[in-house]
Amino acid sequence: MRGTMQDVPLSIADLVRYGTSVHGEASAITWTGDEPRRSSYAHTGRRAAQLAHALRELGVTADQRVATFQWNNQEHFEVYLAVPAMGAVLHTLNIRLPADQISYIANHAEDYVVVVDASLLPLFAPLLPQMSTVRHVIVAGGDPGDLAADGVTVHRYEDLIAGRSTEFAWPRVDERDAAAMCYTSGTTGNPKGVVYSHRSIWLHSMQVCMSDGQGLSQADLTLAVVPMFHAMSWGLPYASLMVGASVLLPDRFLQPAPLADMLVAERPTLAAAVPTIWQGLLHELDQNPRDISSLRRVLVGGSACPPEVMRAFEERYGVPVLHAWGMTETSPLGSVAHPPAGVSDEQRWSYRLSQGRLPASVQGRIVGPDGLPAPNDGESVGELEVRGPWVTGGYYRDEDPAKFDDGWLRTGDVGTLSPDGFLRLTDRAKDVIKSGGEWISSVELENQVMAHPAVAEAAVIAVPDPKWDERPLVAVVVKEGHKVDAAQLRSFLAEKLPRWQLPEHWSFIEEVPKTSVGKFDKKVLRQRHTDGKLD
Ligand code: ADP
Repeated sequence: MRGTMQDVPLSIADLVRYGTSVHGEASAITWTGDEPRRSSYAHTGRRAAQLAHALRELGVTADQRVATFQWNNQEHFEVYLAVPAMGAVLHTLNIRLPADQISYIANHAEDYVVVVDASLLPLFAPLLPQMSTVRHVIVAGGDPGDLAADGVTVHRYEDLIAGRSTEFAWPRVDERDAAAMCYTSGTTGNPKGVVYSHRSIWLHSMQVCMSDGQGLSQADLTLAVVPMFHAMSWGLPYASLMVGASVLLPDRFLQPAPLADMLVAERPTLAAAVPTIWQGLLHELDQNPRDISSLRRVLVGGSACPPEVMRAFEERYGVPVLHAWGMTETSPLGSVAHPPAGVSDEQRWSYRLSQGRLPASVQGRIVGPDGLPAPNDGESVGELEVRGPWVTGGYYRDEDPAKFDDGWLRTGDVGTLSPDGFLRLTDRAKDVIKSGGEWISSVELENQVMAHPAVAEAAVIAVPDPKWDERPLVAVVVKEGHKVDAAQLRSFLAEKLPRWQLPEHWSFIEEVPKTSVGKFDKKVLRQRHTDGKLD
């Protein structure tokens, strides 16, 4: 017997219709460094319709790819609405990747149109001739200047949409069709494309809004520091439409001082970013205190959040930090660290520092070194594998069977799952330090070093060792105005770690290199330390 319920497809068009009418008063605010630009969702919806008409006229039909090369701002939000709602595929290009990777990705996805922010033209112009399938470039937020390439027509965003109808008959789509795509930064080999469906984005948005997800509601103003080109900005743009939460878009002003200014001026209730952004903001607030009390929650994910950062926000500023785990491949929301009700204060912290609890729609299992599933007992360590309706089942035109195991996605993350569904990651498989047959967690070591009051940042990598196979090397950034040396840090650690884990290699650096999305770039650190540069 089949259910009697209506088979209405879950579509981005319905999210757009709903968000821009019922929640037409919600606003998208773009920071400019001067007077912020404000647009109601109703106005944003009208401009998205105009953009959709313009794109149709340029020949965008069916599932053609419309790429973005933009900051988090009003126009980027409009593209987010228009492209999937018109049935085409939104492709967010990561502006911070190396040039050859960006053009590889654009060619692999066969992007037909690219919407580019005018301030990014110096970066984009040299890439354009390498993008063999692009026929139209739309420049938003300024003039195209002398941008040109063979076979490509260049448009000015405002000119292109001006005077067009502010309504669009969004087509009905199959909910399993592609709505958007995003490439992983590719730690090995070429970047790989993940293609989100209308259905997966819809279901994921619901999870973002659930109280034990990110708990988004119409009462929120959300500061998405996480770039809209990174893992669909953690689900916030579409979830905001779903519930009518307003969005604060930081554009290119991602440094700690303007972020602090935004918090004071616009008083967002929720903010999302990787740990390095929050570390920078804390430092800024320590130097120039500001009132950030509007925040009811700060979301952190993308890499393990140092406990010191969480404690500082909560204890010094009264703002709880919510730790979440996810990947581009998981839309990205996987687990969120809401402690269970009724636990003691100490247990509460332990839960909050974990990567969180998997929701009903994301099943997880731990697979041990023998390739067999291990019990979810909170102790058996292995690789996390996940599956669910917003977890990718493959990559776009790229076989990678090693990433899948009997229908499960292999995450490359190592840790445990407890009987009550909490995930605790000890490391990424490739970052673990294998010393004399024992494993040292680089994340654990980093957190211990960063707990020292003179340390701003610490990143740990493995370096080859003739006796032990690998040993940890700690790259340390000392806080401004402080002094500390390797011997002092070693004795600080000696109180907390077993002797065999104490690192003998230390390197004092100006800054930890960061990846395109602001995580510690251990690949670069490893390269730096393979040619006799060990301190
Ligand atoms: P990239 O590989 O470029 O970092 P993603 O942004 O998709 O691409 O990163 C996903 C990975 O980030 C996860 O597999 C995991 O290793 C790491 N990660 C995400 N959130 C957390 C977290 N809360 N704690 C530890 N690691 C995390």
